[in-house]
Amino acid sequence: MNCMQPCGRPPVNKTVFPEADTGPGAGIAARLAGFLSLTAGFALAQPAPLGQVGLQDVALSIEHVAGSVYMVQRPGGGGNIGASIGPDGVLLVDALFAPMTENLLEVIGEVTDQDIRFLVNTHIHRDHVGGNANLAALGVTIFAHEKTRQKFLEESSHFPRNGGTFAPQTPAEGRPLITFNDAITFHLNGEEVRAFLAPPSHTDGDAFVYFPESDVLHLGDVFRTTSYPIVDKFNGGTLRGTIAALDLAIDMAGPETKVIPGHGLEVVGRAEMVEFRDMILDIRDRVYAMIRQGMHLDEIMAAQPAAAHDAKWGREASWTAVDFVPLVYYELGGAGRLEDRQ
Ligand SMILES: [Zn+2]
Repeated sequence: MNCMQPCGRPPVNKTVFPEADTGPGAGIAARLAGFLSLTAGFALAQPAPLGQVGLQDVALSIEHVAGSVYMVQRPGGGGNIGASIGPDGVLLVDALFAPMTENLLEVIGEVTDQDIRFLVNTHIHRDHVGGNANLAALGVTIFAHEKTRQKFLEESSHFPRNGGTFAPQTPAEGRPLITFNDAITFHLNGEEVRAFLAPPSHTDGDAFVYFPESDVLHLGDVFRTTSYPIVDKFNGGTLRGTIAALDLAIDMAGPETKVIPGHGLEVVGRAEMVEFRDMILDIRDRVYAMIRQGMHLDEIMAAQPAAAHDAKWGREASWTAVDFVPLVYYELGGAGRLEDRQ
């Protein structure tokens, strides 16, 4: 997989979209035309699921992170995409919502005329896998951890926000074609891009992606700069794994490492991960001390163990301390298991 084009390169995109010109503008125009014809009667023609109305009109932005890595994001910074872009083509980490694919192709086309060849899904949530089917229709090969792919087979996707909600699953055409168990390495654009399973944190199929030469980490939704950590218990997430996953990422990061959070407008670094992890540890320790005192959940909620952090981390209405603290409480053995720990 380390071939420079055109040696051994799958002709997927070229077959779908013969391009007379290799300039970025002409290339993306042909790609878009082909995309629109492909998706007529398919993903984009379906009624937009609840919450996605108007997403096709959202302007995306692309910024250079370091080396061969770029970040694509939408206003608000949710479902941030990492992109390795270079002479061997484009590898995407995550795919945003389905209606955003056309705009995604546009912003990628602003910096390269190369085809999108590979997509790695960090986890099952729709703001990260919604564009899968559209990209697969373009010939993009999709990778994910096998536990994440298993979730594509469920009838609906369960989301943790707002106390738990369901969403229709992405079409079968968007399922990852290739799965990995522990890790997989992509040899392209001058580096060995490594995707590997993180401890069960946001979900139990979270993949971290590390770009070693560019020195960039994409952590999916294990790390976010916009809210308390979302531990998706419906999809196997755990508090203990969240802390372990952040410890792992912090250990991997050097002083110059750039970190793409799953949610957040800024590319950050090691210090921000440490701050996020320490906030979690502080709340965990406070809640645990209260459990040890025999306090029940309603008493702990009234005591506001996250109060010192609310100003910074409690700003997302759909995921505040009211959502996070009970998760901490139950995972630490709240609700009647106190005696087990004494
Ligand atoms: Zn997520």
